[in-house]
Order: sequence, then structure tokens, then C-alpha cells
Amino acid sequence: MTADGRGSVAEPPGLETQRREIESLLRESELRSGDSWYVVDHRWFEQWKEFVETGDQNSSSYPGQIDNTELYEDLDSYHLKERLAENEDFVLVPAEAWHKLHVWYGMVGGQPPLERKVVDLPSTLKVEVYPVEVFLCLHSNMETVITAQFSRTDNIHAIQRAICQAFSVPPDSECRLWMKSSDSSCERLRNVHMSVLDTGLSSGMTVIMETRNADGTWPSSRPQIMKNSVEEQDSYRGQPGVSGLTNLGNTCFMNSALQCLSNTPALTEYFLQNSYLEELNFTNPLGMKGEIAEAYADVIKQMWSGRHYSVVPRVFKTKVGHFASQFLGYQQHDSQELLSFLLDGLHEDLNRVKNKEYFELRDADGRPDQEVAEEAWRNHRRRNDSVIVDTFHGLFKSTLVCPECKKVSVTFDPFCYLSVPLPVSKERVMEVFFVSLDPYAKPVQHRVVVPKVGRVSDLCAALSEMTGTPATQMVVADVFNHRFYKIYNADESLNCILDRDDIFVYELSAPQEDQVLLALYLREQSHYRDYGAGSSSYGTSLFGHPLLLKVPHGSCSREALYELFLQRLARYVRPPDPSEELEEEEEEDEEEEELYRSQTNGISDDEQQEAEPAGSSCCSNASPNSQSEGAAAAAAEPQPDADRSMSSLDHGDTETSTGSPDQAGPACSSNDGDPCGDTGAGAAAGGSEAPAEQPQQSSETAEEGNEEDKQGEARSPSPPASEHPAKRRACRKRRRSLFTIQAVNSNGTTERGMGERGSAVSFSSQPYVAIDWDPDMKKRFYNENEAEKYVKHASMEVPQQQMTVQLQECIELFTTVETLEEENPWYCPVCKLHQLATKKLDLWSLPEVLIIHLKRFSYTKFTREKLDTIVDFPLRDLDFSGLLLKKSVSSAEPPSRYDLIAVSNHYGGLRDGHYTSYARNKDNSQWYYFDDSKVTYATEDQIVTNAAYVLFYHRQDKIRKPTLPTPNANSASSTQASNDITSCRDEDEEVVPGASSASTMETD
Ligand SMILES: [Zn+2]
Repeated sequence: MTADGRGSVAEPPGLETQRREIESLLRESELRSGDSWYVVDHRWFEQWKEFVETGDQNSSSYPGQIDNTELYEDLDSYHLKERLAENEDFVLVPAEAWHKLHVWYGMVGGQPPLERKVVDLPSTLKVEVYPVEVFLCLHSNMETVITAQFSRTDNIHAIQRAICQAFSVPPDSECRLWMKSSDSSCERLRNVHMSVLDTGLSSGMTVIMETRNADGTWPSSRPQIMKNSVEEQDSYRGQPGVSGLTNLGNTCFMNSALQCLSNTPALTEYFLQNSYLEELNFTNPLGMKGEIAEAYADVIKQMWSGRHYSVVPRVFKTKVGHFASQFLGYQQHDSQELLSFLLDGLHEDLNRVKNKEYFELRDADGRPDQEVAEEAWRNHRRRNDSVIVDTFHGLFKSTLVCPECKKVSVTFDPFCYLSVPLPVSKERVMEVFFVSLDPYAKPVQHRVVVPKVGRVSDLCAALSEMTGTPATQMVVADVFNHRFYKIYNADESLNCILDRDDIFVYELSAPQEDQVLLALYLREQSHYRDYGAGSSSYGTSLFGHPLLLKVPHGSCSREALYELFLQRLARYVRPPDPSEELEEEEEEDEEEEELYRSQTNGISDDEQQEAEPAGSSCCSNASPNSQSEGAAAAAAEPQPDADRSMSSLDHGDTETSTGSPDQAGPACSSNDGDPCGDTGAGAAAGGSEAPAEQPQQSSETAEEGNEEDKQGEARSPSPPASEHPAKRRACRKRRRSLFTIQAVNSNGTTERGMGERGSAVSFSSQPYVAIDWDPDMKKRFYNENEAEKYVKHASMEVPQQQMTVQLQECIELFTTVETLEEENPWYCPVCKLHQLATKKLDLWSLPEVLIIHLKRFSYTKFTREKLDTIVDFPLRDLDFSGLLLKKSVSSAEPPSRYDLIAVSNHYGGLRDGHYTSYARNKDNSQWYYFDDSKVTYATEDQIVTNAAYVLFYHRQDKIRKPTLPTPNANSASSTQASNDITSCRDEDEEVVPGASSASTMETD
């Protein structure tokens, strides 16, 4: 149509006719988007106008052939000169006018017609005289560059076609385009349906095209420094899909989820067959601009190329983090949460619906289920239409009943996975150490079953049944770092105790009047002085096991305590033989003062009595680390036992302060061997035994001075001898103690001076006492080996009963009627009030691939726990026919039987853990175990464990026959190392033990 040269020149009409026809065309033509206009040299056109106006065929103004020579830079490239101006350098004529002129006059030899399109640019329609001129090349050969022009309204796909044509690339190749500007920044031309104008592509830029490698990677994203990648590419031809995923730092949750999805046949084939390219939705505001879908496609293509032992999903991880800030970091996450995010992200990125209409959700209002369900599904599909909906979405029915007006509200809602609850055990197994009153008995480790919502008293009761010790004579404590982290009250909730806590239960002597619970710590003095604290005392460090014991309230002498402690520690503290009598060098009298009556925790008498409220509990631990809620509760309501001992203490204090010291401190309890003798109040004062160690207590001396005469007796080396006043002098040169006794705070540190730890209010009346050992003495008399011994009660040998439930039970629980919780009420449209309605869920229709999430992580108002219950789930023939509300009316309905295809596993507890997966390869139907970069064969009997967390089931009618024979995994060596398929050569060359033998099992 645009033949050039003279050959097509026709005899033109008369000049007046020419003038009228062309002028009317110029006058009447409007710019219409997409129309062609032609550029004509301005001078030639003016010449023609003059010619037709003269009306003389033989005029000298005859313009001759159309000649645009002046518009070109040169006549080789026919490149337009820059900045040509309309009506100065050229005129634009509509196509019809051009064709007439061209036919009448022809064109100077070889020149192409300068056809230009009208483009609809933002806010203006114009003839695009200067199209965008870009360079085109292939990523594989950037040296060969061609020039091409495109309109700003052309889409990127036109450029892709041009490159394919220019470089003989098959047009159905999977390609990616990049635009590179002169500053060498490179940007992906992601959406091929976008216009040149919208992508920002402009003249002078280069468009580079790459095609996907055979191994599923892209040339441009292949890491440059990748050892052995070429080698791996050449050598490895494994079963497609059997590929590990490299852990990028706590990304096992992601790898586990990806392996499950990768082994979902319908989804993987959709990506492998490039169906996703046609459906990428770049404009969906709910989507990720196609980026998640593309990154996912890249991972799947690499995994199914059969060329990788392990794929590095770095780009995918970055994209996921980009769009879901909760997955941004590398901290451990939940594979089910990621699955949920990913299914949603993929769905929106691939949603075939570009403009979502809004439909109001209609209540059933008594209409039949079938009708309401179909309406709900139809509406869902009108807004959501993607491979994800096709594969994973089902419909459940939700029925709410108002408790007041009995209004019944029925809705049908789509789901893409079922979160089914696990039956929660009401019991809890605890492991505790029981410390008998018998000083020679080793601690016994018991396993006891207690109510999950029980109290500490329930623990004592359970232990009482095993030990025969009355529960009232037990006190429960959390031991941490050789000290009491917390001493529990009987009515405290067992929730305060975590499984990992070291719980010791101490037997106490039978209740007596005037006893107090004393906490005993063991400390070793360091050889150096603790100058740093500005004190003259030696530094000390806690060791061994702390003890809790009842001691007489009121006053008990230091000497009496010494004997009591020696006896209590008899199993691993050896008293010195007479032959190695340790002579005390010092002649000075020992200062003796009460450790817990008037000087509790190193606090002065006055302050102590004023500050200490009567109800203050031994459990209001002053430790800064104490679990505050529990401790506070404990302080408010002391357990009866502790309360009794506390009140006896307070009572005793009162007695003391009212001036009956002699009666206030009776002998130490009888079962402690009466170490105090019959000396009555053992508290005494005198000289100072070790002034350097207890300077803060010297102020007591004067007050207690009146009891000096009893002091010698109290501290006599052997109680019987204490009766003789004559012995008193001998006692001055007395046996040196193995340890010294020191009042401490609950942390086991000595209060230095006063007020260092703040006001007295922060101290409880719980006496804490430390016995301080000289390192040499400890070495000689403290048997560390014996101290650490304990025995296991028979209850520890009984294997822990694993709770097992059937998957069907969990699904039935999912459909059980429940009453809404107060935090989540339902707004009843009839009552016009929020009501705690009853809610029932029923399954209506199920998808091709059913994802079942086992809710192992239980978070309630009170507890957070992971349930280790074994859920027994079938590998084949999971049958929903009894559970589906929608009754199969015709044989056209899909069946309701499912086979397992993948499992995401979680090992470990709430905070930590590891994710892996089992999955069945769609091509050879072999089960594999995927553990990050490592893949091993799996057998069906390995799959059901208490780690199973998310299950993938495939509806039987959609299961196709495997295309390959199942590899005979069992014929291989049974050792794990040689069963290891992919662990050896990771793209990142991770060192995996036993890697060298890994490739022996390649199957193809
Ligand atoms: Zn109501």
C-alpha cells in the first residue's frame, strides 16, 4: 500500500481538485488514537500548495516527487534529525491525504514513508513523530545489538516479539526482559502488557532479554561466585522435585512449607507448564504485583529441573520478607503461618479477576443450604479465581444461634485450610526432686501426674501418695543457680512452673509451735577480697544444693544452727575426726547474734519490725528475677503451712519485743537432735568471732550482752559438756568451725551495711542463711560427688504415656458446637446487641487438595503450650463422606476420599524447634524426607509422628498414575548416609558430614 518510487504514480486529477481534496482532508481529520499520520517535508508541501493554487500544470512551481531528505540525519539510517518542528520543518498529513499525494507524486527513490501513529498520552492526543528508539540484545550475547523503534503505546510484549524475531529465539521461550539505562542501572520489565510509556523506557536505553536455563535458574540471577555450579549442572540429573532447600538462617519453616507445596501436583504443574505467565496480575492491590508468584515459580522450576541437589531460595525469601514484614527477619517462624500467607499471596498475584465487584454477604434467611452455598461459592469465585482457589479452596457452613432470641444465622465461607483443634489433656506430667528429712537419703526424682490447671498443693498431694510424706509437710521450690529462685505457696497455680524448671520438694519436720522455715545456701569464700564492693568482706560464690528446713522460731544460737546444719548435711559433709581437731587460733569470743529473729536478712531490729507486715509471705521473694505475678499472689495469700510458720515467726517477734526472751527461744526442735542443749534462748552475744566478716552485726552486741553467761554453753563443742560452767573457759580455745553462718538475702548475697538494697520494705521475713566455706575446708570436708547424687524413683522408668488421637476426632472437634468467648462476641441483628452465641462449623464442600493444620500450639488466656499428642492420620482413604454436609446427589459429585501427599513436621517446643517435611513425589510416588538441604528416602511407616503439624491430602479422583516406576529405596543400603540423596552438593557448598557417599542413590 505504500509502494514507493515512480512505478505506482498515477495520473493526478486537476490542480483545483487536488487542492480541494487535500485541504478538506486536512480540515476534517481529527487525531484519533491509533490512526496513522504521515510526516512530509514542510518545504515540499508549501511548494505543492503554491503549485495547486497557480492552477497551471506547467508552472515552474511543480514540486516534483515527495522528498523528505531534509528531515533525515543521513540517507542510510533515515534517522530523523533531532528537534524538528511541526509546520517549520515538516507537516503532518492524515493517512488518506498522504496516500493521495503519494499516488499523485511518488517519492524520491528509496525513502520510506514517514508513518507515525496518533498516541493517547496522558492528557493529550498527538502524533508521535519521534518514537522511542532502543537497543535490543540478548543476555547471552550483549555484543550484538540492534536498534529498533517502538511507540510509547506499544506494550513490552511487542519488544519481546521483536527481539525473538531479530535473534531467532523461539517465540514460546520463557523470557525475562530488562531495561538498562545509560547509567547502567538495570530494571526488570516485569509486566509485558505494560506500555513503553508506562515502563519509562525511553530512547537510548537497551532492552536485554534472557531465557530461562535448563536447570530452572535465570542467567542474570545466577550467583557469580558459585563453586562447582557448572560441574553440578553437568553431572546431576536427579528425580525432578527431589531437591533440598538451603537453610538461609532459621528458614526451615519456609523450606518445610515450600516442599509441601512443591509436591502438590496441580500447583507445581501449573508453574512448570508456564500457565502462570498468562495469569500474573500486576495490578491487584491485594497482591504483590506478581513478584511472589514469579519468585515462587523460580524456586519450583529449579527444584523440578532435576539439576540441583539443593536450591537456594534467597530471592524468594527476600520477596516474602518484602511483602510480609512478619517474615522479614531470620528468626524462627511457623510453617503454617507462612503457608497461609503464601497461599494468599499466590492467589492474589494470580487472580484472574482484575476488577473485583462487591457483593453483599446475604444471610440464609431460611433458604435451603444448597441455594445459599451455591450463591456464596458463586460470589467467591466472581471475586477470586485463581489456581489457588481451583486447588485449595473449600466451603464450610457456619451456624450461629443467639442465646437470647434464638436467631439463627447461617453463612457459607470459603477456606483454604482447616485448622483443627487437638483434644487437650487435662493432666500434666511433672518431674520433681523430693528431698527427704532423712539427712542420709539422696534426693529422689519423681514423675507425678497433676491436673493441668492444678495448684502447688496438688503437686504435693500427688507426691505424698508416692512418698508417704504428708503433703502438709512439703514445701515446693524452684532451684536455680544454687539458690531459691522461688518458693511456692500451696495455693499457687502450677502454671507458674515450667517444665524446664528445676523443682525441689522438701520434706519438713512435723509441724510444731514456733517454727520458722529457713532457707539454707552454701557459699565458698574466694581467696581474694571483694574490694570492688567497697567492703572488707571476702567475695563468695554459691555452690551445691540449697535446703529448706524448719528451725525453732525466735532465738536459736549460731552454735545450735551450726550443729543443726552439720547434721542436715551429714550425707556429704564429713565432721572432723578428733585426730584432726581444728584448733581455733583466735582467743577472742565469738560474737553471737540471732540470724533471723531480730536481724533477719541483716536488717536492723527496729526497721525489721516496722517494715514487716504480719501477712508478709516467705514467698514474696526479694529476688529481682522473681516471677512477679506469682510472687505477688503468694504474698497476698500464703499457704497454710508457710502461713503457720510465718505467724509463729511474727508471733515470736512480738514475744521478743514484749520482753520475754528466755521463753521465746526454746530448744531447737527435737528431731534436729537438740543441738542447742537445754540452754534456753540460744541467742547470745559476746566477743567477735570474725569481725572482718560481720561488721554490720556488731551493733547487736550490746543488746544481747545480758545473755553472755549462756553463750559459752551454747557454743560448746559437744552439747553434753555444755552444762558445766567450768567448760566455758575451755571453749574459748575451741574447735574451729567448718563453716561460718551468715544471714543473707534471697539471692544469697550478704547485705552490706544498710540501705544498699533500698528500703526495708523490700525484704521478707523469710530467713535466708548461708554457710560460708573456706576453700580449703570445703575441699577437705565437703564431698561434692556425694552431694550431687540423686536416685530415680520407679515412676521415672515408666515410659511416658503418649496421648494418641485419631485425625477424625480432631476434625469432629472442629465441627463441635462451641460458645463464643467474651472477647469475640457476635452481633445479633435482632437483639441489636453483642451476644455470646453458640457457633457450629460444618464442612460443605472440599477442595482438590485439602490442607489440615493441627493446632499444636495452644495459646489461651492462661497457658501457652505445644501439644505433643500423636495424631493418627491415614495415608490413604481419609473419608469425609460422613462429615460433609453437602449430600452427593449425583455421581458427578467428586468423591470424598483423600490420600496423603505431604506433611510439614515441627520438632521441639514453643520457642525453638525445627521444621522438616515428608512428601510424595508426583512422578514416581516415592516418599521423601526433606530436611533443609538434605533429602532422604522415606517409608510410609515413618510418616505418622507427634511432629506432624500440617497435612496435605489429595482427593483421589485427581490423583494421576505416576509416570515413573517407584525407585526401590529399600534395595539401597539401609544406612542413613547412603540413603542421603541430596545433601552433598549444595549450591553454597555447605559442608555436610557424610556427603561423599550421598550421590550413590541417584535415581533416574
Ligand atoms: Zn439475639
